[in-house]
Amino acid sequence: MAGIYLHIPFCKRKCAYCDFFSLTNAKYKDNFVQAILQEISLQKNYLKNECVQTIYFGGGTPSLLSIEQLEEILNALHQNFTIDKNIELTLESNPENLTQTFLNDLKSLGFNRLSIGIQSFNDDDLTLMRRTHDAETAIKSIYNAKNQGFKNISVDLIYGLPNLTQEKWENNLEQTFLLDVQHISAYHLTIEPKTLFKKWYDKNKIHLLNEEKSLEQYQLLVEKTTANGFLHYEISNFAKDGFLSLHNTNYWMGVKYLGLGPSAHSYNLTSRQWNISNLHVYLSEISKGNIPFERENLSLQEKYNDFIITSFRTMWGLNLEKLVLNFGSSYKNYFLKKVKKYLDQKFCIQNHEQIKLSEKGMFISDYIMTDLLFE
Ligand code: SF4
Repeated sequence: MAGIYLHIPFCKRKCAYCDFFSLTNAKYKDNFVQAILQEISLQKNYLKNECVQTIYFGGGTPSLLSIEQLEEILNALHQNFTIDKNIELTLESNPENLTQTFLNDLKSLGFNRLSIGIQSFNDDDLTLMRRTHDAETAIKSIYNAKNQGFKNISVDLIYGLPNLTQEKWENNLEQTFLLDVQHISAYHLTIEPKTLFKKWYDKNKIHLLNEEKSLEQYQLLVEKTTANGFLHYEISNFAKDGFLSLHNTNYWMGVKYLGLGPSAHSYNLTSRQWNISNLHVYLSEISKGNIPFERENLSLQEKYNDFIITSFRTMWGLNLEKLVLNFGSSYKNYFLKKVKKYLDQKFCIQNHEQIKLSEKGMFISDYIMTDLLFE
């Protein structure tokens, strides 16, 4: 069982908060597609013939590729890998690209899951974030997708934005519920280096919400999604029954995955590797038959740290038996000693052999997980 992630590094415009690797110049799109086809063939042995259960086109904005380009890529994947016949095939998309025709063609190619970058249903906030769509287009994209028979739709939302009031955040959530989607990924804004928000923040042009307000928005998110029948299955992810993202769940469960395209990461249980975040170097090296990546072989300690981070993100949490089996009792003792204070303060909950974050623990998950790592 394995997954494949493809990084499509093109965007129409750079959003003010985004630090993902992407370029706004689409000039090299055709060259990129040729390169990724070549990389697929160069990497055909990476997953050692394991059956691929999920394929995820992320980015960047994969919905900027044409149907023909997506088809070429899918054909190459089918030729080089063993693909499960019940594959979960996801396309990350921006609302303005989701026309009826494009969606119909996506369906014919076998895409069965859409992850739509809506972020907000408030036009002022969309403008502030420099998104390329408005609220009306966002709503229409979901209607279009449903019309074309998509039954597994995820939307991305952002909270903790400058000036995002509780009322505006609640409206965003209510609008999402009205659209009756199956999955929500909701992220708190972080100000990343080299973004427009960072520049504005340094010049005092935007101000972050205080911690209390951020916590209130997170609490509202959890309350409202739960009340509307969503399962809070990962810190930032909520799904209706039967619609958990298999691709991401496998990633948190430590399943192998291959990343293709510049900046994409791969993991094969013993090492992690990541492609260079530079399109020109990527194109030039691939044309010579080389994949420009760096690799890190994982020590037992690094594997333990990965295990902590990935397990603690999810509603299942960490299994102590699995911990002993994979890392031995000294790691278990280390972990139990460290986690005790969080159990005492109810930031974590224990149920027999499972230990997981409580809802209040999820809000400070980064802090807790960092503290639990093996130094
Ligand atoms: S948020 Fe998405 S659309 Fe915006 S720049 Fe980043 S990758 Fe591109």
